Amino acid sequence: MKNLIGSSIKDLENIALDYGQAAFRGRQIYSWIYNYKNKNKNIDQIEVLPLDFRKKLKDDGFKVSELSFQEKRLANDGTLKLLLSTGDHESIECVGIPTEKRLTACLSSQVGCPMDCKFCATGKDGLKRSLRASEILDQILFIENVMNRKVTNIVFMGMGEPLLNIEELLLSIRSINEDFQISQRKITVSTVAVPKMIRKLSEKSFQILGNCQFTLAISLHASNQKIRETIIPSAKNYEIRNIVEDSKQFVKDTGRRVSFEYLMLSGVNDKLEHANELTSLLRGFQCHVNLIQYNQIDEVDFKRASLNNLQLFKSRLSDNGIAVSLRKSRGLDKNAACGQLRQNSKNK
Ligand code: SF4
Repeated sequence: MKNLIGSSIKDLENIALDYGQAAFRGRQIYSWIYNYKNKNKNIDQIEVLPLDFRKKLKDDGFKVSELSFQEKRLANDGTLKLLLSTGDHESIECVGIPTEKRLTACLSSQVGCPMDCKFCATGKDGLKRSLRASEILDQILFIENVMNRKVTNIVFMGMGEPLLNIEELLLSIRSINEDFQISQRKITVSTVAVPKMIRKLSEKSFQILGNCQFTLAISLHASNQKIRETIIPSAKNYEIRNIVEDSKQFVKDTGRRVSFEYLMLSGVNDKLEHANELTSLLRGFQCHVNLIQYNQIDEVDFKRASLNNLQLFKSRLSDNGIAVSLRKSRGLDKNAACGQLRQNSKNK
């Protein structure tokens, strides 16, 4: 694989030297790739390079990136959802979520997902394969290209379970941080939690990145083990209390905070008794709970909790001393739920 995206400045200088060019040619490639204003990301467009150097790179199979555009949906609130094709004809989704000051890219880490969460369209088809770091990073280029803005924040909340693709995840974070110039503190890695992997994530992060400064968001979605297993079948391998203990260890190891994501599902986990149970589970842990409105999908029976239940739940957690926010759903009018666009495209 000779994708240039994800290459460090040193890597590109070395490529230039290998081709008998001066090192600054590598730096020119570097500046060109990571400048969002350069739209058409192919080697022909790097006009500062000599023609014969561009030709040699192409003849030897180098590309800037390998994903291709398949479909886009723009919601009324400006949220952009992209369906992209990989070189082996799989489809992945990514989302650009704009506000006045930020552009957050929601990235996929796998094609499909093995975790089979019952509320999720991506989980329906299982896992095809994990993405390479270059394919993860390419999603940022596409979002910047279509939205004509620089991405400022990253969330790994798209298709896939990032902790089942740790090496490529961390290689992509290195590049997001050093090449795309996005601080690790503006990156959130979201996981449904896989046994032993929270510890491995911090260990590997110190090995690969030299530190661990991103935020970890754990998709808890339940206040007890029984409810969790009904909505996340893979949860049977990982006791909810152990997830909280491992999260505390992550905070100790890294100094970073952990947030718990809680999808509010009507009649499943949205009662005050659940808020009280969640309080008992998290009491004494300096964490943050994000309550999320559910984007309903056709194939499953779960329903979005009412706004009233959401507000009551939030107030109860807050009264109980738990830091809590309500995360508004964006892009509701355009298949905003994870995996929906891909699913629709397959059905067509
Ligand atoms: S919610 Fe996330 S972890 Fe669960 S099946 Fe969907 S993509 Fe996978």
